[in-house]
Amino acid sequence: MSEDFDVECVACGACCSGKRDYVQVFWHDAEKLGAARVAELVAEPVGEHPASVGRPAEAERYMRMTKGRCAALTNPTPDQFVCAVYEDRPVLCHALERGGSACRDARARAALFQVRPGNAPGT
Ligand code: SF4
Ligand code: SF4
Repeated sequence: MSEDFDVECVACGACCSGKRDYVQVFWHDAEKLGAARVAELVAEPVGEHPASVGRPAEAERYMRMTKGRCAALTNPTPDQFVCAVYEDRPVLCHALERGGSACRDARARAALFQVRPGNAPGT
């Protein structure tokens, strides 16, 4: 993370917003989530990844998006954004670095700078 980035994720949530088929859920992600949370939070499979060396075929599936937001994103208060499955979130969510390019892109996409000038991406 670059030193010029001081936005806290709990005040943002931009990278948890996107269109359908945004956050992919791999089989190991689904295992961590468990059947009940998969049923609640993961959308129906859209296809299948074929088997490859050392890996069986697996369903292609994504976190369920509701009104453009991941179904696991909660708002304890109107200004707070908290992942309900944080400890077990998909590997792609783990990989997104706060303050990195994907983070800044997500914030620019969400245009959060329009409502939170002090948290403008790139500032
Ligand atoms: S876009 Fe960046 S600051 Fe916002 S929640 Fe995601 S990682 Fe955190
Ligand atoms: S699983 Fe959690 S961290 Fe990942 S997109 Fe959904 S709310 Fe965000």
